[in-house]
Amino acid sequence: MTSFEIKRDFHIHTNFSDGFSSAEEFINFGIEKNIEQICFTDHYSYFKPGVTDETMTHYFDTIQRLKEKFAKKIQIFVGIEVDTSSVTDFSKLGYYSWDLILFEYVFNLPTWDRIFSEVRKFSHDFPNKNIGFAHTRFSRVTHAKFDEVMSVIREKNLIIELNTGYQNYLDRWFNYLDEENRFSVGSDAHYLEQLGNISGALNFLKRRNIPIDRVIEL
Ligand SMILES: [Zn+2]
Repeated sequence: MTSFEIKRDFHIHTNFSDGFSSAEEFINFGIEKNIEQICFTDHYSYFKPGVTDETMTHYFDTIQRLKEKFAKKIQIFVGIEVDTSSVTDFSKLGYYSWDLILFEYVFNLPTWDRIFSEVRKFSHDFPNKNIGFAHTRFSRVTHAKFDEVMSVIREKNLIIELNTGYQNYLDRWFNYLDEENRFSVGSDAHYLEQLGNISGALNFLKRRNIPIDRVIEL
């Protein structure tokens, strides 16, 4: 295995939210493509089709069952992508042992400052959870605040996602990340054919000589 072969995809949407295939169809396709680890991250949102407070347990349990069913063939993880533009109360998330929680749009919103402190508080309350930012764009963070944001990200070990669907790593702020930051890679697949497409993230890592061990495994 060369150092730049990563056979994992940690950002996938099934028909629990706005994806077009079931979790089991994604799993079978993943096995066919020799992907070693996949993490489902269906939306938790009031604006988009997705997991709701009522269906969260069903979603979580379904993926957990598939995890066991396919354990010999592929590693499956259960995550969730939290839309911070509509979900403002994160308390329910704490009841589940998610493998990965991705908060999306945090830095895209005019209220990013407040939301970022909520995420910080959540990561403080649940220090053992893998918490990150989906397709992170530090678009509203000013120079004056950037160091502060980075120090919270490092202190709380928060994950910055490299997302093929958004090419977010072309953001100029990525020039300022350092060797402490942890990354995750994901395709943002909504269709089967998109599963495992992390080529953009791999190019980014290679171009910048970022060692592979800074990309999280679950
Ligand atoms: Zn997504």
